[in-house]
Amino acid sequence: MTTEERLALLGGTPVITAPFAAYPSMGKAEEEAVRRVVHSGCLSGFFGSPGPEFGGGPEVQGFEAEWTARFGVAHTVSVNSATSGLIAAMGAIGLSPGDEVIVPPWTMSASVAAPIFYGGIPVFADIEDETFCIDPVRVAAEITPKTKAVVAVNLFGHPARLAELRQLCNANDIYLIEDNAQAPLGREHDCYAGTIGHIGIYSLNFHKHIHTGEGGMCVTNDDDLATRLRLIRNHGENCTDMLDGGQITNMVGMNLRMTEMSAAVGRVQLAAADAHVEARENIANRLTQGLQGLEGLSPPVTRDGCRHNFYVWMMKIDEAKLGLSRALFSEALSAEGFPHATGYVAPLYRLPMFRKRIALGRDGWPFSLSERRYDDLHCPVTEDMHNRRALLFEPCAYDLDDADVDRLIAAVRKVHAGRGQLNAQSGSAASDDDS
Ligand SMILES: *Cc1c(COP(=O)(O)O)cnc(C)c1O
Repeated sequence: MTTEERLALLGGTPVITAPFAAYPSMGKAEEEAVRRVVHSGCLSGFFGSPGPEFGGGPEVQGFEAEWTARFGVAHTVSVNSATSGLIAAMGAIGLSPGDEVIVPPWTMSASVAAPIFYGGIPVFADIEDETFCIDPVRVAAEITPKTKAVVAVNLFGHPARLAELRQLCNANDIYLIEDNAQAPLGREHDCYAGTIGHIGIYSLNFHKHIHTGEGGMCVTNDDDLATRLRLIRNHGENCTDMLDGGQITNMVGMNLRMTEMSAAVGRVQLAAADAHVEARENIANRLTQGLQGLEGLSPPVTRDGCRHNFYVWMMKIDEAKLGLSRALFSEALSAEGFPHATGYVAPLYRLPMFRKRIALGRDGWPFSLSERRYDDLHCPVTEDMHNRRALLFEPCAYDLDDADVDRLIAAVRKVHAGRGQLNAQSGSAASDDDS
């Protein structure tokens, strides 16, 4: 065996010898945009009272109008994060203490924390094995007269079964909220991810496809929901005259406003969004194509008629077919220089907040309003995926050309072909006393 064939974990030469450069997401145009705002002297155009400044300054309003046009929706309401947007959405739909909100357990925690601020009770429904998004069959099984909404997370950039979920929600007279933080420009048939639910929320956080440091965008086609989102964003208790019919539930506002600088940067980022997303899509597709046909490894698939934006490229491992534990495979892959992680986040019902049923205040509100318990909950697809099967790579993080992607492919293929070297090691692979 040559040192090229010997696994790096066992003292061979690694495939990738230098770390990849970070993806360059900020350029001259963003710099100019910030300069323009600083020169204007107006870093925020918002006032928290009725009047022309209630909706923010020129950059915020311009950014919202451009977002509305780009995604073909009726309204866009900018906020200072997707977390803020999710909370505002829960308020806008009139969520009341004790209402249930069906959520997936495999997502960023904000997707399931948001309902709690209005007394909502998260109810977990397992994910699909293929796309990692919430399973409509599991959702349907959890709907009760207490259900007010479903949160569909378009995880890793792939749309959940959105049309089907919207139909299910319409039939039950409940809301579909899309956590589209990871999936800008994702698509299900002719519809953009984020635009199929009653409200869709995008993140402009630093780590996402397009970003403004911190920031979020809410979209909706419903005039009343848009007004309610704007009120919750900006001290709405002062402005309830804006509501038709005077239904003032949850119109206790906060300050969730985006700054003029963030909006100015966001306008540049939106204009370049197609290029950013296509770059990551190309990396992911090349990686997937290069890794077909390897026993025990399943690169990500895209459901028919959908567009996946590959915020995360997630491969599934079958340890039995691979003949190796995920941990050992991962260790060997790291030694070859392939940056990745195993799992994603532990199933969220394992968080102390749920297991102990303690969220707001010392008496366990809002869980005190519900019989739902989380300590004996199991979502088998999520648990298996997180604990044994998932291995993720972030195309968003690195500046990769085709040759770099080919090195990533070569690293996986080398470990796959050489996995017998690890099996031959009795027990710990880390002990490299093979001289
Ligand atoms: C990043 C993310 C959020 C939170 O976004 P922020 O803008 O950081 O608040 C929410 N949900 C998902 C699925 C995310 O990936």
